[in-house]
Amino acid sequence: VPLRSRVTLDGRFARELPEMAAAWQADPTPDPRLLALNEGLAGELGLDAAFLRSPEGLALLTGTAVPEGATPVAQAYSGHQFGSFNPRLGDGRALLLGELTDRTGALRDMHLKGSGRTPFARGGDGLAAVGPMLREYIVSEAMHALGVPTTRSLAVVATGRDVRRETMLPGALLTRVASSHLRVGSFQYAAASGNQDLLRRLADHAIGRHHPSAADAANPYLALFEHVVSAQARLVAQWMLAGFIHGVMNTDNMTISGETIDYGPCAFMDVFDYATVYSSIDHAGRYAYANQPLIAEWNLARLAEALLPLIGEDQEEAVTTAVAALEAFRAQYSAAWLAGMRAKLGLPDGVPDDVASPLANDALSLLQENHVDYTSFFRGLSSVVRGDPRPARDRVLDVAAFDAWAERWLALGPDADAMDAVNPVYIPRNHLVEEALEAATAGDPGPLDRLVDVVRRPFEERPGLERYAAGPPEDFGKYTTYCGT
Ligand code: AMP
Ligand code: MG
Ligand code: MG
Repeated sequence: VPLRSRVTLDGRFARELPEMAAAWQADPTPDPRLLALNEGLAGELGLDAAFLRSPEGLALLTGTAVPEGATPVAQAYSGHQFGSFNPRLGDGRALLLGELTDRTGALRDMHLKGSGRTPFARGGDGLAAVGPMLREYIVSEAMHALGVPTTRSLAVVATGRDVRRETMLPGALLTRVASSHLRVGSFQYAAASGNQDLLRRLADHAIGRHHPSAADAANPYLALFEHVVSAQARLVAQWMLAGFIHGVMNTDNMTISGETIDYGPCAFMDVFDYATVYSSIDHAGRYAYANQPLIAEWNLARLAEALLPLIGEDQEEAVTTAVAALEAFRAQYSAAWLAGMRAKLGLPDGVPDDVASPLANDALSLLQENHVDYTSFFRGLSSVVRGDPRPARDRVLDVAAFDAWAERWLALGPDADAMDAVNPVYIPRNHLVEEALEAATAGDPGPLDRLVDVVRRPFEERPGLERYAAGPPEDFGKYTTYCGT
C-alpha cells in the first residue's frame, strides 16, 4: 500500500549494497495502537507528530504502508556471538524502511523491529513483545539524555497480536532511528562472502555516511578503521562512566557509527561492582561491566580482520598496519574515561593525570568494597563540596576510608556545580523500568510516561521525584535481563 504523505525515504543502502539487502514486507498489524511516541525525535526528523498518530502514520510506523518509491529490506550481517562466529545472522525480525534526511541535513535510518519473520529469522518468530520494546524506548531515551551516543526510539506500537514467550504476551513494534545500522558484523559478512568489490562498496558506503574525511586520507580504509576505533573508545568510556552494562556485545551489536545499539539485556548498575552481569545467558561473565573495554577492543580486532584486504595489497604489511591502528584504542579509551572521571569529580584543569587517575580508581574501590550505589554516590559528592558530607559519606560503611579519600579529593578544589551537570540524579533504575513495563503490559501507561519524563532530564533534581532517585528496595533481589524477547 503506498503512503499518501510527504515522507520521503531513500534506499541508499539497498541500492549500493544489494547483496546485503533482502527486499521484504512487514507482517500486517491487525489492531495498531500507539504506546509511545517520541515527539522531540519526530521534530528532529521533520515528521509531524499529529500525522504519526493518524491511521496513516501508524501504517508507516508498522510498515504496513511505505512511502512511494521506498523498499523495505532485511539487512544481512554476520557476527561473533559470545566469541563464536555465525556467518549468517541478519535482521531476523527487523526491516530497514529506508533513509530519511533530518532537519540538520543528516541521513538517518528508519527501521522496524518486531515486524515479522524475514529470510534471516532462523528459528525465531520475527516478533517482539510490548515489554522489551518499551524497555528499549526508555533506556535509549535515558542514554540520549545522558549524552551517550545511541540509536533512538521513535515509537512503540502495540500490534494487537499476542506473541508466545514463556506465556502469551501482547506484541509490539519499535520504530528505531539510527545514523546507520552498519555493524562490525556487516563487514564480517562482506569479508566472508569473498566478494572484495562488495567489501569495498560497503567500506565506501560507511565512509560516506560516517567518516567522509576518511575518503581524502592516504589510506581511506585504514582511516575508516581509525575512526571506528576512536568512536568506540569514546562510546565504551561513556558506558563505563554512566554505569551502563550493554550485556550482549556481540560483533553484530557493535556499530560503525559509534552509537549504542541493541537494548536487549542491558541495564544500569545500582550497587557498584566490577563483576556485574545481568544477562541470563552470560554465564561466563564475558560481557560483565569491567570487561566492556576489552570486548570492544576484541570486536575491533574482528573489524580489522574483515578490512585487511582493503588496508593493503601485502597482507603481512596490512596486519602490521592494522595492529598499530588498534593499539590506539587503549590510549583513547583511557583518555576518554579519565576526562569523564575528572568531570564527575569536579576536578580543576590543572590537576595532573597521575593524581586524578588514582583518585578516581580509589573512589571506585571504595564503592566496590562497601557495596555502594554508583549513581547516588557520585551525585552526592557535590553536597560534600557544599559542606554536607552525608549524601555520599552515609553510604559508605568504612567511614574512615571515605574521609581519607575525601580529604585528598577536597584538597584539589572540586567544583560542585560542574559536578551536578555531569552526575545524574535519575537513571532508568531497573526496578522502576520493570514496574513501568508491567503496568504498560497490563494496559496502564502512567508509570511508563512518568519514567520517560524523569529520565529525559537526568541532571536536574526535581521535588517530588525522590523515589526515582533512590536505589532498589531490599526485596527487589538479583536482577536478570533477557536477550531478544
Ligand atoms: P540479538 O541477540 O538481539 O543481537 O539478535 C541476534 C540475532 O537473532 C539477530 O539476527 C536477530 O535478528 C535475531 N533474532 C532475535 N530475536 C528474533 C526473533 N524473535 N525472531 C527472529 N529473529 C530474531
Ligand atoms: Mg542485535
Ligand atoms: Mg537484540
